Amino acid sequence: MDSNIAAKIAVTPIVDQLKDYQPLFWKNPNYGQADSDLPFSKEYIFDAVARWERFAPYLAVAFPETKAMHGIIESPLTPIEHMQKAWSKYNNYDLPGTLYIKQDNALPISGSIKSRGGIYEVLKFAEKVAMTDGDLTYMDDYSVLATPRYQKIFSKYGITAGSTGNLGLSIGIAAATFGFKTTIHMSHDARTWKKEKLRANGVQVIEHDGDCNFAVAQARQQASNDPYTYFIDDEGSKDLFLGYAVAAVRLQKQLVQQHIRVDQDHPIFVYLPAGVGGSPGGVTFGLKEIIGSDIHGIFAEPTHIPSVTLGMATGLNHDISVYDIGIDGNTQADGLAVSRPSVLAGRIMKTLLRGCATFNDSEILKYVALLADSENIKIEPSAAAGFAIIKETVSALQDDYNFADATHIIWSTGGNMVPVADMQKFYQMGKELLN
Ligand SMILES: *Cc1c(COP(=O)(O)O)cnc(C)c1O
Repeated sequence: MDSNIAAKIAVTPIVDQLKDYQPLFWKNPNYGQADSDLPFSKEYIFDAVARWERFAPYLAVAFPETKAMHGIIESPLTPIEHMQKAWSKYNNYDLPGTLYIKQDNALPISGSIKSRGGIYEVLKFAEKVAMTDGDLTYMDDYSVLATPRYQKIFSKYGITAGSTGNLGLSIGIAAATFGFKTTIHMSHDARTWKKEKLRANGVQVIEHDGDCNFAVAQARQQASNDPYTYFIDDEGSKDLFLGYAVAAVRLQKQLVQQHIRVDQDHPIFVYLPAGVGGSPGGVTFGLKEIIGSDIHGIFAEPTHIPSVTLGMATGLNHDISVYDIGIDGNTQADGLAVSRPSVLAGRIMKTLLRGCATFNDSEILKYVALLADSENIKIEPSAAAGFAIIKETVSALQDDYNFADATHIIWSTGGNMVPVADMQKFYQMGKELLN
């Protein structure tokens, strides 16, 4: 092993707990400090907001399920009073504050948070091609991009990405709909139905034995040999990151509409499942830029693959993998099965993330069942990660914040496209664990 990695491991106290697969809360010591190194500002978020708006007329035509929302892809923020009771009963602990769920499990097109970043990057590439090879202008009604003339232009280009599943699903479906030649490299743990769905949409799916980081490397390799193929990089793309950040602008409005206060006496805690850290990092960056100092992002990771926690706690970010500390990387949470964090996430989160917490897989299955029974909301196991870290968060931070008037938002990152039989299986496993 690299001596720098060994040296950092030796001075990072939580490494012993991580090696033992012990659930823990890591409090970020740099939280709230000034960071003059941030690569983006608010303007980048508003640039992305404007692009989504330009594309809304296209999306409403190309994806009829977005028509009712006029081509805007957004999810509800839902109070879950019954789940709060079920959560408190299961944990034998009265949760202070109020519990909500941000339902990205219900987002159109991919049924996951990847509809934010993945689709956004496809839109950005399509806009560029349409302006250089076609004659699109910013003032046009972008629904013109759904016509055969533009589809023919797009068909000269390819798009590729590597994924454990959901990112591939969102990029694949969006890119193929534009008419791009689309290839998705899937890791060994990608679910069969995701591959089938992509193939049914005309996407070429290449299956690999390796993990997500390996699949990403294969996609990168493919694009490097072909100037007409555009690679969407889950481990370092700025556009993916900014696509996720737009969520904060939408959430700000939902908070006001639902009379949810956010100030020092009414803090908001947002619990986000993390894989490479891109989607939760983008959202958290947006929340800090748009909503400010009284909203706090916390990442949730499986004890068996805590890549962002390890990267941030050691300060090595993308330069360390969970395999460097000898843990196995096995998890039911396929959306989070990433051994090495993205290049961007750890760096940008350095002062913006309140902390990270890890959980046991059995817990998320139980919460899948509790949520289905209490609220009739069905989500995939990864998406339930937030529920599994609230208690650790409150106990780690209880002296720092007024939890009595806090709002807890569980970011539910996926679920709607999961086949009924798979969902039933997760639910059943959760029920059995609860008994
Ligand atoms: C991708 C994904 C995440 C994590 O996003 P990263 O950008 O990899 O951190 C969480 N939940 C689900 C369901 C996902 O698909």
